[in-house]
Amino acid sequence: MVEKLSVVKFGGSSVRDSFWSALELVDYLLEGSRLVVVVSALRGVTEKLLELSERPEWELFESIALEHSRIADKLGAEVKPLLDELEKAIKENRHDPEWKDYILSFGERFSAVLFAKALENEGIPTIPIDAREILTLRGSFGNAEIDFSASLPRVRKLGELAEKAVPVVTGFIGNLNGKTATLGRGGSDYTASALGAMLDAKGVLIMSDVKGIYTADPRLVPEARLIHFLSRERALLAAKLGMKALHPRTIEPLGSIPLILGRTEDWRLGTLVSDFGDDWPIIVHRVEGERARISIVGVEELPGWKGVKGNGYFSIAVEREELVPALREIHGVVFDEDPRSCHHSELWARV
Ligand code: ASP
Ligand code: MG
Repeated sequence: MVEKLSVVKFGGSSVRDSFWSALELVDYLLEGSRLVVVVSALRGVTEKLLELSERPEWELFESIALEHSRIADKLGAEVKPLLDELEKAIKENRHDPEWKDYILSFGERFSAVLFAKALENEGIPTIPIDAREILTLRGSFGNAEIDFSASLPRVRKLGELAEKAVPVVTGFIGNLNGKTATLGRGGSDYTASALGAMLDAKGVLIMSDVKGIYTADPRLVPEARLIHFLSRERALLAAKLGMKALHPRTIEPLGSIPLILGRTEDWRLGTLVSDFGDDWPIIVHRVEGERARISIVGVEELPGWKGVKGNGYFSIAVEREELVPALREIHGVVFDEDPRSCHHSELWARV
């Protein structure tokens, strides 16, 4: 029987700042299964490409070229053909959504070439895959969705390919009626989960520079705690109500396939989202102009706070400038009363 497969997605900082940890994780995962790697653009590159699509200036192009050439030289990878193609593309100077998506696609395409070469250098056979060759999209430029049934035959072939080498697939992009389109910002997590779903993976791992899902946004609430085991239902509701760590689109296709979020640098600790996780309360927020909406998922009322009870959550509207103090105060109320503490464990043994 063919062994099961895992999908691991590396975010933009992994290829640059945590290369060795990423390679170590790949080695570890390869011991137990076939593997498909999905990569996003190097950190900050999509922003630069976006800027380039708004004002195609030579200096901007040069800085993108330099950034990738430096890494390519170190690895012995070849990015010249992609650079030439990008240079030609920006000269078209078209500014329509189709052209913009085409420009944005280069970030992931550079990354896949670099990451694949890095694995090769470690003696791991790889094959860089341009997702436009396997993922059929529908919808519109800038925010397309993956057409699972149309993509399935080619994705299955990818699974077969993974028996011989590790495919390194570009996240974020696909083929929309023969044209290059993107899945919306942050879309490479969705690429990974869609591939995981179509290949019936034993797990999907999303590796980035944040450890995982916290009880609130840790950049705003320093007391927020990392949640190690979280139920799928809870993760999905939190994502729908504004949690930044995951997009609902990433969770939805997975069915009962476990999803792990982790930081590339210390990948033994993270969040495992599965049918067997706990229903932790999670405090999420969404800024709406001058106001912000805080939702406490898993809590239906909060003594002393006026708000609206939803199905499985309680939400409170605040002025935008009150957001951070309100989040911290609510976090204190919700979690000081909760004596449970998050347990540390080796999530990775489960994948
Ligand atoms: N590089 C794309 C972005 O920054 C996709 C991703 O990172 O997932 O939005
Ligand atoms: Mg990115």
